[in-house]
Amino acid sequence: MSRHSFLRLFAYNLFLLISTLVIVLLLNELFPSLSFLTLGVIVAISSSLFFSYYFSRFYTRRLSKITSFVESVGKGQFNRSLIPSNADEIGRLESHLNRMAADLKNYVDALSEEEGKKGAVVSSMGDGVVVIDNSGMVTLANKRATKLFGPSLTGKKMIDISRDPRLLELIEEGQSRLGAVNGEISINEASPIILHVTLSPFIRNMKNLGGVIVFHDITDLKKLENMRKDFVANVSHELKTPLTSIKGYAETLIEGGIDDRENALKFTGVIKKNADRLSRLVNDLLTLSNIELGKVEFHIRSVNVADAVHSVFSTLEQKGIEKGLKLDSEIDVSLSLLADRDRLEQILLNLVDNGIKYTEKGSVAVSARKEGGEVVVSVSDTGAGIPKRDLSRMGERFYRVDPARSRELGGTGLGLAIVKHLVASMGGTFFVGSEEGRGTTVRFRLPAG
Ligand code: ADP
Repeated sequence: MSRHSFLRLFAYNLFLLISTLVIVLLLNELFPSLSFLTLGVIVAISSSLFFSYYFSRFYTRRLSKITSFVESVGKGQFNRSLIPSNADEIGRLESHLNRMAADLKNYVDALSEEEGKKGAVVSSMGDGVVVIDNSGMVTLANKRATKLFGPSLTGKKMIDISRDPRLLELIEEGQSRLGAVNGEISINEASPIILHVTLSPFIRNMKNLGGVIVFHDITDLKKLENMRKDFVANVSHELKTPLTSIKGYAETLIEGGIDDRENALKFTGVIKKNADRLSRLVNDLLTLSNIELGKVEFHIRSVNVADAVHSVFSTLEQKGIEKGLKLDSEIDVSLSLLADRDRLEQILLNLVDNGIKYTEKGSVAVSARKEGGEVVVSVSDTGAGIPKRDLSRMGERFYRVDPARSRELGGTGLGLAIVKHLVASMGGTFFVGSEEGRGTTVRFRLPAG
């Protein structure tokens, strides 16, 4: 542009000069006596040529500078500015361009800052975020998404990333509905992760250009939901059985059974037994709920282990004798641990009682030893033991190896759950070990006192 405009300007001036020369020559013809005029014309031509060249170069240089400046700004190089050399039109244009470039720089800086913030938010999000184009190819994935689906997601198709057909159905649904869609998928067969998926498509001119998919991990939520459902079902079931029995026997008594003295006594005995069971169940449920709600107060202090065991043995001695079982303890009399005395006895009572309940012959023994800064208390029996497959579930509410036997023995299925919660609330850990046919050992650790 610069060379072209320079030539044009030059040609224009030349044309003017030639025209002037022609007019002067014509005048010279008309007035031959005026020789000084010829001289004047020559001077005029020379100066005109000189100024025409000078101005052409001057303006062309300034325009070249402007062009190169505009080109740099177009490439995103904002470190240059134009120095206005004159207060003319071009000088004003230069000032405007400088201001425009500065505004543009601020705008670009603000945009990239905004972009950076958005990037940081997306990458630090606890949810997986994946951006796809309209062919379902991943164009962007955050850290959490790569943790869920594996590394290097960019450039891969969603179909290759997740085999769950529901995800592809969701993508198709999002494309056809041109609106956000939600659903649930499951990944990782070995240890399933349940994800809530939200797909928000990018729509322009009624066309789908891809979308952003957010994966929210709801595995724990689902587990809790299922636990809650199971718990409600279990409680209802546990309450229903004794209630049905109480209702049935009471109706029999009302309908005339009360006059049959021998049977009436038997029936009221059954009613009492079931009412006791209901009462135990409600008590255990309340205890569990109070521990969970933090309503149980723990007065932690140094408790002599041998003393606590002795107190529990005296409560259960008769029960042991009735079953012909020996209650043994092997504890250093000076050994103490940090606990709430009543809660420690409640734990021991539950465990020794279980030992007596599930042992037909032999003994139930309590031992304790110091290990580092902790005291390990073990309650062992020589009973039937617990099958290996059930061991990991010990301590779950209402989980029993043999529900009918547990009920027959007056169990609520909540004893070990209470023990587990009490030990944890006092800063300890709990473990159940067993060898089927040889006996069970339940151990808990609490800080030494
Ligand atoms: P329950 O009221 O049924 O005894 P627990 O929570 O105390 O409830 O125990 C849950 C289940 O664990 C019992 O039903 C039983 O199957 C098993 N169990 C607990 N302790 C023992 C033990 N010492 N020997 C064998 N099985 C046991």
